Amino acid sequence: MKLKIKLFRFFNKSFQNKKTSSFLVSNFVCRALVKNDSFQELKTDNQLNTRILVVTSGKGGVGKTTATANIGMSIARLGYKVVLIDADIGLRNLDLLLGLENRILYTVMDVFEGQCRLDQALIRDKRWKNLSLLSISKNRQRYNVTRKNMQNLVKALANLNFKYILIDCPAGIDVGFINAISPAQEAIIVTTSEIPAIRDADRVAGLLEANGIYDIKLLINRVRSDLIQKNDMMSVRDVQDVLGVPLLGAIPEDNQVIISTNRGEPLVLKKKLTLSGIAFENAARRLVGKQDFFIDLESPYQGVFQQIKNSLKLIIK
Ligand code: ADP
Ligand code: MG
Repeated sequence: MKLKIKLFRFFNKSFQNKKTSSFLVSNFVCRALVKNDSFQELKTDNQLNTRILVVTSGKGGVGKTTATANIGMSIARLGYKVVLIDADIGLRNLDLLLGLENRILYTVMDVFEGQCRLDQALIRDKRWKNLSLLSISKNRQRYNVTRKNMQNLVKALANLNFKYILIDCPAGIDVGFINAISPAQEAIIVTTSEIPAIRDADRVAGLLEANGIYDIKLLINRVRSDLIQKNDMMSVRDVQDVLGVPLLGAIPEDNQVIISTNRGEPLVLKKKLTLSGIAFENAARRLVGKQDFFIDLESPYQGVFQQIKNSLKLIIK
């Protein structure tokens, strides 16, 4: 497999212009969310230093949840306090990917209904305590989250000093999508290299901008170098050119993704990282502004897997 590392130093610049939050949230509701009857003063938007990202796509099944779990876990491993919100009501599976499905006692719906406090609905990861999971609802019937509710929720989480809030968006572009994106300042669009997925990703990019989210990055998933070589799949560069969105990362097709899903252990936790694990880790490092090179998945040559690992070791150390 011929793989080479390309330097894209210009890429870093796009991360330096972080947008500040623009939404206004009722302090009263937030107080209630943080602690039901506490009068703890909440910080205003411009006092907070939290990045709020939505992980979205047009087409379903392209890898949003896989990306949220792996990128979230990687950022937590880099030392940041991270919360992952599973906004995919009814089809929630972020808990499964993280192996936390048995720990969910309360959801955000219970918080809104006054059944528990927000900190009781936050599930801490067993491996990395600075990673938390929050599910919106256990079933679709109890789904009546509004945009305002989502904004209040995120505001309350920011006040709990989470540095990164990643929202795993539901499939489609209906009300669930609009609610999920409403508190976000930044978006990661996940797509595969297939034409229907790219077309839907393009639509979503337009919708995000129409909703005031301009800081958008692209994650291309399930890349297959063998098909690209044979001109049977669009290259990463071609997909990026079509969408005109800065690239956060490209993740190869990998059977280990399915195995790790079944085990409830994100790929990036494996002792011996596979190429997709490395690619997810790179994307996370790029997101936090720690790395500015890309792995080229498209021109394989023998033995380079080791070369990438060696280069990574240099960068990580
Ligand atoms: P979404 O959240 O967008 O619906 P998921 O993250 O649930 O998508 O992924 C859909 C399916 O694709 C899952 O079965 C997952 O294991 C598989 N998958 C995702 N990314 C990859 C990959 N890079 N290689 C192989 N399978 C993948
Ligand atoms: Mg999903």
